[in-house]
This record gives sequence, C-alpha cells and structure tokens, in this order.
Amino acid sequence: MKTVGSSVTCTALCFWALLPLQGSASGAQPQTNQNASSVGQSTTRFLKFRSEAELQNFLAEEPSSRRVHPELMWVETDTAREKALTASALAARGVEKAESDHFEYRIPKPLRGLQTATDVPSAKIWGISKINAPAAWTVTRGQAGVVVAVVDTGIDFNHPALKTNMWINQAEKNGRAGVDDDGNGYVDDIHGADFISGKATPMDDEGHGSHVAGTIAGNLPSESFYGVAPDVRLMAVKTHNTKGEGSKSSVVKGILYAADNGARVLNCSWGGAPEAAEYDQLLFDAIAYANKKGAVLIASAGNEAANNDTGMHFPSNYDLEGIISVASSTNRDTRSYFSNFGSRTVDLAAPGSNIWSVTAGGEGYEFLSGTSMASPHVSGAAALLLSSPAGSQLTPAQVRETLMAKVTQSPEWLSRVISGGRLDVGFIGGN
Ligand code: CA
Repeated sequence: MKTVGSSVTCTALCFWALLPLQGSASGAQPQTNQNASSVGQSTTRFLKFRSEAELQNFLAEEPSSRRVHPELMWVETDTAREKALTASALAARGVEKAESDHFEYRIPKPLRGLQTATDVPSAKIWGISKINAPAAWTVTRGQAGVVVAVVDTGIDFNHPALKTNMWINQAEKNGRAGVDDDGNGYVDDIHGADFISGKATPMDDEGHGSHVAGTIAGNLPSESFYGVAPDVRLMAVKTHNTKGEGSKSSVVKGILYAADNGARVLNCSWGGAPEAAEYDQLLFDAIAYANKKGAVLIASAGNEAANNDTGMHFPSNYDLEGIISVASSTNRDTRSYFSNFGSRTVDLAAPGSNIWSVTAGGEGYEFLSGTSMASPHVSGAAALLLSSPAGSQLTPAQVRETLMAKVTQSPEWLSRVISGGRLDVGFIGGN
C-alpha cells in the first residue's frame, strides 16, 4: 500500500492577484475559452460540500460560483467572495473543505544530453528493448481504440513521428469551426484541449510533452523510431506552460477532460508538494474519478534524488490503487542519480536516463533524462496491456498490479520501490 505522510512542508509561494473569476451558469460544463487561468496568478478558491443539496443551495445563492464537474462535490469561487464568508459561515452552508489554487505541480527542468559516460546507451531507443517491448509486439503494438492522454505542455502533432498517432475527435474534425460540435464543453478540441491559454489547439510550445509522447507512441519506421506502443493514440492535454508551470486548476480540469473523453491511460510527468500544510483533496478526487472511469494514471516520482516515503510528492504519493508511481533507471538497471525512490510510495522503475525521443518544432530528436522520461515507458506499457486480448478489460488497479507483478527484480531496486524491480512487458508476448 502506498502511504501518505501527515504533514507537508511548504516552500511554495502563492500568487494572489487581481484576475477576476469569469462567471458562468451554475452547474454548466466549463467552456475552454472562458475558463483559462493565468498561470502564476489565480484568485480561484475551491469548496468541497458535504451534500448535493447544500452544494445546489450555494450555487443558487452565489451566482459567480460554478461547479467543477457534475460528478464532483466541488465548487469554484473567487478569493474575495470566499473571504467574505467566515469559516463558520461556510461550514454552516455545507463546506467541509476549502482549498486554494496554486502552481506547485511543476514539470522538472529537463536534463539535456547524455548524462554520464557509464550510462551511454549502445542503441538510441535502448529503453524499448530493455523492457522487452518487441516481445510484446508479437501480440500487439497497441490498438487505435486505446487512448493515452499526455497531461503536459501539449504535443507537437505535426512532428512526423507523432502526427499519424494523434487522437482525433471526429465530431470536431468534421464539425464547424468555433462550435463545440460534440457538446463536451470545449470548442474545436480535435486532438485535445489547452487548459493554459484557453485556445483550442494544444500545440507544444515547450518540448517536454512531445518528448514524452514519442516514448509512449512514437512511430516512424523510416527513422527506426518507435515508442513503447506505436499503434495507440495520443491525446494532447495541455496543462503546463513554457516555464513548466501548471496550476492546480489546469491539471484538475485536464485530468477530468481526459477521463471524460475516453483516455484509458493518463501520463503525468510532473509533480510537487502542494500548498502549506494542506493535503490536496481536489486533485485526489479528480484522479479517483478518472480511475472510476477506467483510466489509470502514471505519475513520475520526481528528480530530487529524494526518498518519497519521508517527503511529499504528488500526485505520485496519493494512496490510490489506480496511480502507478515511477522511478528512473539507467541502461545498466541502476537508479538514475537524480531519481526519487520509496519502498512504500514508488511502485516500480523504468528507463529514464538518456532517452532518445521527439523534439518539438521540426523533425528532430534529442536525449533527455528524468523520471519524466521513465513514466511514459510505463504509460506505453499500460496501453499495450490494455490493447492485448488478455488485458482489455482490466481496471486501473489491475493494470497497476499486473505491471508490478511482472517487473524484473534486482537488488538495486528491492529496497527502493514497492515491486522491487524495473518495468518489463515481455509477458504480453508470452515471454
Ligand atoms: Ca468539443
């Protein structure tokens, strides 16, 4: 079982500014263009209600508030309005928890180029062979109906290794420009949605998300470049900006969008410690909802070389059976020097040092290192498993249990991750 610590050390700065909350009808699905938060500042507050009746009463009495999601007991309001109500007044109206927006779920700065001389791989996409993906490919290379959401900086869906594998929302592709043709609350969301700028097009303007996407489902035979699951589809869920900052609001809405639009795997190569001394219940509730919808969430363990059993790192540390927390290994199956670990909080290791994948903005490739690069190997593995005849009906918890049971164990990892080993998907091919 994963464990969650009882205290959080805050190193966070909370940025309060004058951005007004733009209202919408109570209970309505959010519209992308009305819903963008300006990263670095937010006056959004989130209130969790004890009962549906109390939530509905509050929405009726507070027209500037709106529900976060029809299935969640959370309402968005603004700081000024929430501060005008005392804690006792909020409690009397059914609020059991109030949380702030924040910007602590960061994408770590990528470690560029080859990291150490001893870890230089003999083949560029060494991680693919290390986890025995080609053995799994004898049974499946992935099915187009299995969608992996890259909850990140967007995806360069014009890159030749990615463009044939993008998820396509057919109702929007064949619909009218400027219209929410499928009524999912987002206008022109053909390949995904952008929760940073509010624009319809989740193009990657940073590079992190495209590199991650390439490891999951890149597919360009002419360049001998493949991801773990080269025939699944990639949904671009843009939750982080060019500085690697994502707000709690953007990641929560991105996760809910991915789950509601059919993603079975959510790759989250980011994380951090939430605001001072608060357990981030809204993000937890959003992920629990995604799990309930059948989506497994893959979370990087972090790049601080820290023990997550004694430190805070979310979402990887949340105690949910539908989250797989991932450490980074080298081509020698040792721990990458930067990788976080945790015998009670990190599930397994996967290749994350010197990973060759897509560079956004052109046709190029580059080496990056990080637990951000390890997580997409696991996301690809989950997608392969869900594409296989034996795995198509697995729940998120069963995907986690299966991948953890099939790792290649080693002394290096026995004391550092729950499963005691590094990802291996050879079993999907009968190995
Ligand atoms: Ca739409």
